[in-house]
Amino acid sequence: MTDQPTSSPAGSPFDDLPVTVQLAEPLAKHTWLGVGGVSQYFCEPGSVDALSTVVSRCNETGVKLRVIGGGSNVLVPSEGVESMVVRLSAPPFCGVEVDGQSVSVGAGAKLVHLVSAAVQAGLSGLEDLVGVPGTVGGGLVGNAAAHGCNLGQRVYSVTVMLPDGSTEDRVRDDIAFASGWSSLDGVIVLAARFDLDEDDPERLTKRMQRQWIVERSEQPSGTRSVAMMFKDPVGTTAESLIAQAGCRDLCIGGASIYPSCTNYVVAEAGCPSSDVQELVEKVRGVVREKLGVELAPRICVW
Ligand SMILES: Cc1cc2nc3c(=O)[nH]c(=O)nc-3n(C[C@H](O)[C@H](O)[C@H](O)COP(=O)(O)OP(=O)(O)OC[C@H]3O[C@@H](n4cnc5c(N)ncnc54)[C@H](O)[C@@H]3O)c2cc1C
Repeated sequence: MTDQPTSSPAGSPFDDLPVTVQLAEPLAKHTWLGVGGVSQYFCEPGSVDALSTVVSRCNETGVKLRVIGGGSNVLVPSEGVESMVVRLSAPPFCGVEVDGQSVSVGAGAKLVHLVSAAVQAGLSGLEDLVGVPGTVGGGLVGNAAAHGCNLGQRVYSVTVMLPDGSTEDRVRDDIAFASGWSSLDGVIVLAARFDLDEDDPERLTKRMQRQWIVERSEQPSGTRSVAMMFKDPVGTTAESLIAQAGCRDLCIGGASIYPSCTNYVVAEAGCPSSDVQELVEKVRGVVREKLGVELAPRICVW
């Protein structure tokens, strides 16, 4: 596979669909880490119907389908992926609408847009998540969390697309959410509705601004080529365990630990993805050996 994307390839299984399909799309530019190879197919459908044609065609032809959100939690292998990668960036997937105490949002919307729309409308329940990067879809799939609040807690319903291209609404009781995980795997998250509490917009704005500052101080600054390595184990943080195990200065090739936020891996430009993956495994091994704790990976390796 080459690094230069080409569009609408004659002879691809998607030729006759109302969607522009790129061949060999470099995925590094769609991820925070900025490393990794190309996807065999890539598209940004303009509507739910157009997405449905792509999804069902993948199902019929056996082409694996993946979704990329904000790319803040994905490591793409250097050799690329033999899949269709879909990005929900078109306006029909990115809207945020407030109706009374409910907020309906497309899966492609940035999480920060959902949080700020809720706060502006005087609705509380999501403001602690203001500093979490990525989209609502990625946040729901991995149950994004910060400061004791997680996205799953406030879900009323989620609209998903199944592998045959049909859509379905799932209510809160039909979805399981746990630390860094939800049962929304194997489907495409299209949209969600959150039911929130009424509150004073001014008080909420101040709280959101405070959380933003706190979250930023806990994240690497000065580089976007980072990813969070592990979930926090119950009762402690991955960051403190990694520091305690003496992993702060570990590096493999172009991958290193961000010194003041030790649960983040930093990738040098052009670094092979395997350096990142090996470093994550190395840290996991050292923590296991020295502290007897098995850290669960947060980063999704494709
Ligand atoms: C600097 C930094 C700080 C972070 N801080 C936090 C934090 O405080 N709390 C926290 O929980 N996480 C944190 N993370 C991790 C990450 O931001 C979250 O996991 C985020 O929710 C991922 O969203 P995304 O849209 O970027 O997902 P992506 O990285 O694009 O995707 C992650 C996974 O979700 C799947 N996916 C994405 N969208 C959809 C969809 N619509 N339908 C189906 N599957 C989908 C992808 O296929 C992939 O498997 C941080 C990461 C960074 C780099």
